[in-house]
Amino acid sequence: MLRLYHMYRGCMHEFSICQNLVDAIVNEVNAIQPLPKRLLKVHVALGHLRQIIPEYLQFAYEVLIKDTVAEGSELLVRTVPLEVKCRKCQWQGEIERQAFICKSCGSTELEMLTGMELYLENLEIEVEDAEGN
Ligand SMILES: [Zn+2]
Repeated sequence: MLRLYHMYRGCMHEFSICQNLVDAIVNEVNAIQPLPKRLLKVHVALGHLRQIIPEYLQFAYEVLIKDTVAEGSELLVRTVPLEVKCRKCQWQGEIERQAFICKSCGSTELEMLTGMELYLENLEIEVEDAEGN
């Protein structure tokens, strides 16, 4: 129990984000006609700069999908790298969060292209066949 308690404390950030995610998933699934038999997998894109730990997000997901249409489904997280464009020399590419400078000219005047996203990419669902199986 102690371990679980720490886990909860450690990922409150992920829990609040994940609640929004689960709400979005439930809405998506309920909008599919006919209603799918089962939700199998959920693919999510997560920006590198989001400071969300994928394992925590997955843990929160497991807890939050209980008693929803998403119960039993698996959350698959794809990390999107931090990509920038330099305003000085127009260099474009991937950088590390720790070193927010242009890899070509060293400028810090960077425009962020990717790295802040968090969105649903795909839902894998199981549907009933014509015989109702
Ligand atoms: Zn540059």
